[in-house]
Amino acid sequence: MNIHEYQGKEILRKYGVAVPNGKVAYSVDEAVEAAEELGTDVSVVKAQIHAGGRGKAGGVKVAKNIDEVRTYADEILGKTLVTHQTGPEGKEVKRLLIEEGCDIKKEYYIGLVLDRATSKVTMMASEEGGTEIEEVAAKTPEKIFKEVIDPVTGLLPYQARRLAFNINIPNEYLSKAVKFMIGLYQVFIEKDCSIAEINPLVTTGDGDVLALDAKLNFDDNALFRQKDVVDFRDLDEEDEKEIEASKFDLSYVALDGNIGCMVNGAGLAMSTMDIIKHYDGEPANFLDVGGGATAEKVTAAFKIILSDENVKGIFVNIFGGIMKCDVIAEGVVQATKEVGLEIPLVVRLEGTNVDDGKEILANSGLDITPAESMADGAEKIVSLVK
Ligand code: ADP
Ligand code: MG
Repeated sequence: MNIHEYQGKEILRKYGVAVPNGKVAYSVDEAVEAAEELGTDVSVVKAQIHAGGRGKAGGVKVAKNIDEVRTYADEILGKTLVTHQTGPEGKEVKRLLIEEGCDIKKEYYIGLVLDRATSKVTMMASEEGGTEIEEVAAKTPEKIFKEVIDPVTGLLPYQARRLAFNINIPNEYLSKAVKFMIGLYQVFIEKDCSIAEINPLVTTGDGDVLALDAKLNFDDNALFRQKDVVDFRDLDEEDEKEIEASKFDLSYVALDGNIGCMVNGAGLAMSTMDIIKHYDGEPANFLDVGGGATAEKVTAAFKIILSDENVKGIFVNIFGGIMKCDVIAEGVVQATKEVGLEIPLVVRLEGTNVDDGKEILANSGLDITPAESMADGAEKIVSLVK
């Protein structure tokens, strides 16, 4: 799960990780009010969307007085920002962060991720802050330093100091930088983050070390014990079909192709997408209905696929192990009864209760193209869609 920058900064603040003062605003008037409350000479108007690269796209503006705050807030609110992380369709700005302007000395990068190769949380740091870290990693990888963190001891002060030295944080900021890193690590662990990225971390003319940006992502599997994080969820930032899928506990990811896929098992779902691609088709989604899905869940899944305007054909590819083929068939029939089916549907069923499943589909009166194998099904749906 993703949250906004201002929400991430709220969490950081609670853990004593230094961030500039700021306030969220949903309208131009609220933005002006927030700036007046901050009372600083310079304030920054920042678009709040679940994507980075806002600065380059015109979503971060430095205002030198209240009039400028009004102008920028008016300009940014409601605007669709297209950044390298939003995709070409962009994201509409519905919230702003009005933040005190900082006297930046230098921008750095600090990030925490779980490194799957070592199975350990790793802190990365660079003096090339403010720019895309992917670019630094590609062009000047020697400028990225890492500390692998032992889960038993946590991030130790000497590791934080070594990182700070490596990225050339001046001595007078050292103790604040170390405190910052240790606090950030504590947030990462206690809040079940999957990513905590501060880009930029800055040193200021006032002698502070602050997070000017905050990107926190959370492990969905831990959300049951992170109530306050769940409260930060902003459904406006999520794909509608993915929200619907999450209600039914379906693993669903929207993609931009036109062949809807309903599959059981993540591995089978991946290979179904591969084989569609192999026959020159484009999957419209990844969907794993899971091992022991009920007819209700299958119905919900099928409806989500049908509600996607981009979908021009559907491929149901089921290998019934724990999942029974007749349950899948019932779900398909139920969903199409409720919402209709005007596009080609190819079904490949194999495994438990396959004969019952095929019978339900055959008696449903639906126009279904049966497939004998995965390859056969993929080939058929691709040609039907074309
Ligand atoms: P994004 O990464 O989405 O572009 P950031 O929050 O990193 O957004 O902001 C982009 C740039 O804007 C920062 O690198 C920094 O130079 C500047 N900036 C952001 N917040 C402030 C602030 N409070 N005061 C001064 N400059 C800021
Ligand atoms: Mg940033």
